[in-house]
Amino acid sequence: RGPDVGAEMVKAKMSFVKHKIFILSGKGGVGKSTVTSLLGRALAARFPEKNIGIVDIDICGPSMPRIMGLLNEQVHQSGSGWCPVYVEENLAVMSIGFLLSSPDDSVIWRGPKKNNMIRQFLSETDWGEDGLDFMLLDAPPGTSDEHLASTGYLKPTGNTSAIIVTTPPELALLDVRKEIDFCRKVGLNILGVVENMSPFVCPKCHVASDIFPKNTGGGEKMCKEMEVPYLGRLPLDPMLGKACDEGVSIIDKLPAINPIVENIILQLES
Ligand code: ADP
Repeated sequence: RGPDVGAEMVKAKMSFVKHKIFILSGKGGVGKSTVTSLLGRALAARFPEKNIGIVDIDICGPSMPRIMGLLNEQVHQSGSGWCPVYVEENLAVMSIGFLLSSPDDSVIWRGPKKNNMIRQFLSETDWGEDGLDFMLLDAPPGTSDEHLASTGYLKPTGNTSAIIVTTPPELALLDVRKEIDFCRKVGLNILGVVENMSPFVCPKCHVASDIFPKNTGGGEKMCKEMEVPYLGRLPLDPMLGKACDEGVSIIDKLPAINPIVENIILQLES
């Protein structure tokens, strides 16, 4: 067999991307895309001089266009590749959602076609002259074709890590442990676990309560057991769900995101 041209092209492009960070979860609906969008916006605000790119590799269920307020946007092909869609000057998004003619279109593809699309996203997106400081990859839940394809392409390019998003009930189950195991098997550096939807914040009285009492402190405990860093928790807050549905930024009203970002930076530097 000759050299893998696709892999070489990804490698060439990735020499302009400093940190590649997968956002993973065992199950759908735990807030993985929400966390990806918050991290993208928070990193862009925290480091105005750095460039952040979000790649939505959830080929069959892309949610970045909606969460980032980019419904009906399209990517354009230029001489130097696909131009991603910019949310801020230093925050750009690439998603298959930008290639569909309607947000309701479904993508029903088998493995090889999905892999091909991911390879193209990684090798043909034009992130600009300076490249990226942070590339956040929003993966589908679990460990499937998309994960194997993208980790297979990115891991050999260095500085590739993962953040695992979970909810308190999911902590009690095996899913998070499976994601940790997956990262270890494919050699991703685990930056840590974000516990989402914990605690619940009442929209009327603003009192925070743990609605899954048995799991109070479960995130930190599980991280200790599994020897992975605990990055912090994000409240279950209707204001946050609404902002994501409407595609607007909420980071100014969500102080809980700041310690998570600081912990991620600490982990990247360690
Ligand atoms: P996933 O990517 O894991 O499938 P999403 O990020 O799409 O999950 O979140 C699922 C739903 O839950 C979305 O409607 C989102 O707005 C909502 N959601 C996620 N996290 C929170 C939160 N902390 N507070 C309120 N709603 C949330």
